Amino acid sequence: MITFKYLITSALPYGSNIPHLGNIIGSVLPADVYSRFLKLDGKECKYVCGTDSNGTPIEVEATKHKVEPSEWVEKKHKEIKKLFDELNLDFDVYSRTDNKNHAEKTIEIYNKLKENGYIYRKDIEILYCPKCEKSLPDRYVKGKCPKCGAEGAKGDQCDECGKLFDSPKELIDYYCSSCKSRPKKKKSEHVFFKLSELEEEIKELLERKREKWPKTTIKITENLLKEGLRDKDISRNLKWGIEIPDKPGQVFYVWIDAPIGYISFSKEIGIEEWWKDEDTKLIQFMGKDNVPFHTVYFPAILKGTREGYVEPERVKACEFLNYGGGQFSKSNKVGVFLDDAMELYPSDYWRYALIKMYPGKRDREFTWKEFRKMINHDLNDVVGNFVHRTLTFTEKFFESKVPEPDLMERDKEILKAIDETEKKLRDTLGQKMEFNKSIDMVIDLARKTNKYITDEEPWKNKERQKEVTYTSLQVTKALSIYLEPFIPETADKIKKFLGINPEKLEQAKERLEPGHKIKGYEPLFEKISKKEADKYEEKFKEKNNEKEVEEMKKIPFDQFKELEIKTGKIKNVEKIEKSDNLYKITIDIGKEERTAVAGLKNYYSQEELKDKEVAVVTNLEPAKIMGVKSEAMVLAAVDNEKVSLLKTDKKMKPGTPVE
Ligand SMILES: [Zn+2]
Ligand SMILES: [Zn+2]
Repeated sequence: MITFKYLITSALPYGSNIPHLGNIIGSVLPADVYSRFLKLDGKECKYVCGTDSNGTPIEVEATKHKVEPSEWVEKKHKEIKKLFDELNLDFDVYSRTDNKNHAEKTIEIYNKLKENGYIYRKDIEILYCPKCEKSLPDRYVKGKCPKCGAEGAKGDQCDECGKLFDSPKELIDYYCSSCKSRPKKKKSEHVFFKLSELEEEIKELLERKREKWPKTTIKITENLLKEGLRDKDISRNLKWGIEIPDKPGQVFYVWIDAPIGYISFSKEIGIEEWWKDEDTKLIQFMGKDNVPFHTVYFPAILKGTREGYVEPERVKACEFLNYGGGQFSKSNKVGVFLDDAMELYPSDYWRYALIKMYPGKRDREFTWKEFRKMINHDLNDVVGNFVHRTLTFTEKFFESKVPEPDLMERDKEILKAIDETEKKLRDTLGQKMEFNKSIDMVIDLARKTNKYITDEEPWKNKERQKEVTYTSLQVTKALSIYLEPFIPETADKIKKFLGINPEKLEQAKERLEPGHKIKGYEPLFEKISKKEADKYEEKFKEKNNEKEVEEMKKIPFDQFKELEIKTGKIKNVEKIEKSDNLYKITIDIGKEERTAVAGLKNYYSQEELKDKEVAVVTNLEPAKIMGVKSEAMVLAAVDNEKVSLLKTDKKMKPGTPVE
């Protein structure tokens, strides 16, 4: 019998910033669940990943923070690694692409490609910003996407529609992302990879994997092949990155070296030969935007070496998890990033909710309402409540020992459900990689047993106490195993309560022996209040831009009260000679008369105004207008064409306060 080696990879997190919830569910979390499951099922499996530390995004981010790219990556890599530990991501290696081992592996592969005639040089037109005095590779340029019309698309790929660009010049009205000015064109000799020559081999790869790769993956790959594969510019005029050995001053395009990280990281843990072993099953996880690199470019590079590297068995791509109707944005503080997340709730809350929200077929939205519901209903009301009831019965009725039962049909049915869940998990998770469906099946086992307890009423029904407690304890044990790939901290807690330490999936079938003593119990989860969820929804949502906020600025009531408005009656109206529009108006405001200068000439005649009742602001600082001292202001409704004086709708004495 062949023992397969399972090599799991997930798209490397960018070292430019902390990943958000969408990044997590797109790559590292499903890969972790899957690799945990395979290991639990006794498979030989390694999960390799690391920080993508090269490339323009890092340089851009470092420049913004006025530090060297190496310093920036150092800081971010440590932060990301710590957060991944907190999220309980169980990597066999988590490395980074700015180390020597990785640079050596990349150069080794490049030299092979060169030896085999897949590398050549060509003069190209690059963009150069005279204001910033530098060449502008991909991400240093932004503009309008020629395919979908999105503004601010990046020079290498449109985030909106996923379109990849060979050159940032394909963007409409492109500009330098640092200073916003229009870059100039300049000639530069670049290094090219003859991707076009490998087109047939990539087409054959797609045909071989048609049954194994998910629809999203197939569609994206087909679209790329339909356009025809063009040779790829693999060099960039940058300082940060892996320098091309025979092209000083240029580094490898980050998407060339990043996937090679999977190999160089494998080397760090001594399994590099897995990459050339026909019994290896390479299983790769990523968001849909990364598919082209995993089904076309990376396999083409490996094929070009002619060294017999394995092909990807599964390329599991998912759609996007969005936030607040759009994308997560660290700079605009929109959405939850992993650092925020780990501060707010235990890792299992996030793992559970994200797996439930896995966007397998279409884009999904993270909502706080849904998050709260999942934690409160599924984890608290179902899992937490079930485990609590079971362990309380054991303690109360049987001095914390597993009772000796006399099983009836109903109990046997529940025990059978344990074994069926194991089989279903192998199919739904192991074979089909249906993440949300798999976790639902496990929660359903708890839900079903919970209902059985409610129906049997062991607190009243003394003669059924033994069987119900025994059966529920077996389900609790099974949960401690089945939940492990999804929510490992909770699974470990349950194992501790039960005083057991099963390590294999098949141990779920082995029953706890009568007489076995359980250790104790504490609550597994806490509910999230609506108030709290609402608070976080407000905190992480898109803020109105400042201008809008300014326009909406409110004044306190006290400030309004400072304004003195009174009724008045116009006694006299005079023209101001030198002005086209101004009258000098005398107004009776009760105990005194005031003079006001008002721009009413174009709207009212002197006759019309005389004896009119009006509203007047009486405590403004006096101002001299066209030589006349104005000591009051007449209130009127004003639009572009009309002006209408305000008056009370009942007759009031002059000098009556307006409030
Ligand atoms: Zn687009
Ligand atoms: Zn510039």
